[in-house]
Amino acid sequence: MSALGGVTGSDNEARPHARLVLDTPPLPLMVPPRIFDGFAWGASTSLEVRLACPLDLDTPTLGRNPSGMAFLFLHDCGFLPRELARLHVGDLADAEEWALAPYAIDDATDELYSRRAHPCELLCLATRSLDGLVWGLHDWCHFHNHGPFDEPAWTEVQCDASALVWLWRNRARLGLEATHWEERRAQLEAVARRRFETEGLPFETDAYQAERLLSFS
Ligand SMILES: [Zn+2]
Repeated sequence: MSALGGVTGSDNEARPHARLVLDTPPLPLMVPPRIFDGFAWGASTSLEVRLACPLDLDTPTLGRNPSGMAFLFLHDCGFLPRELARLHVGDLADAEEWALAPYAIDDATDELYSRRAHPCELLCLATRSLDGLVWGLHDWCHFHNHGPFDEPAWTEVQCDASALVWLWRNRARLGLEATHWEERRAQLEAVARRRFETEGLPFETDAYQAERLLSFS
């Protein structure tokens, strides 16, 4: 099945894209408890996404949010930096729509927590690629958990694991094959190993093992 093969009809022939709501239930804590000061302060439930049709399945997941993805504001938000959505996701957004500024993922993590503003009431994700979807799901985990981020490698483990579990859980509606998921799992594990190496830490986690991840979905 091709990506988004399970979705019938884009809402606009001229700029085809699919709108879906993905299930994003919270995972248990998979990292040392000291990593988060507000773990699961707000339980994640779902993420509304707009995906280009066809979705780019080829761009690899290498370690940072790619271009062609953005979190769009569902309504006015006065406390987070914004930029015109079309600058980042082109015609996946309407001309008047605004997006969270790409540099402001950390600001959103901090501000959503301090205001107890629930992400799903404020933001949706638009992306042209599976890579963008993976990072959007990763960021979605950040938005529901807060930490001092003074141990980035460990912090990111929770977000990577959540992204992978959510990707697997929603694979049928996304039209993804198990091989697409395994490819992203291996790529995120490679990114994580480099983070631990950079911090001079041993890579001692089973959070990227397929069997463990699939036990949560
Ligand atoms: Zn992150």
